[in-house]
Amino acid sequence: MRHGLQQSADCVHCAQRTEATDHLLASCVFTREIWHRLLARVGFQHLCSSDESVLLDWWQQERMRVPESFRRGFDSLVLLVSWEVWKERNRRTFDSSCKTPTELVSLIRHEANDWIAAGFRSFAPLFTPAA
Ligand SMILES: [Zn+2]
Repeated sequence: MRHGLQQSADCVHCAQRTEATDHLLASCVFTREIWHRLLARVGFQHLCSSDESVLLDWWQQERMRVPESFRRGFDSLVLLVSWEVWKERNRRTFDSSCKTPTELVSLIRHEANDWIAAGFRSFAPLFTPAA
């Protein structure tokens, strides 16, 4: 905003809060919907962040609730989702284009399956090939 690159300090995903890292990557309703859709598919919807979540606190707390065999995949998923939410934020801010939560989840699933195909087996328990 200081450099005139964006019009508002509000979150571009929800327009309900001021944009901040923890909001954008953990507590925004848009981001939480992405997490819910991804985690519900593998029965981990109880790990979803809340509207008060702080990214690092949430991540550190929830990763300990994930079975150890899923933990490495969960850690990588936090990074992948954060990266894709950040890129979506930039699309909306600078390109005047946007993806729906369904489209972003699909993009994340495709990316994760590419990682699996490249040998990153830790994602396999979190992403089934179907749908
Ligand atoms: Zn938001």
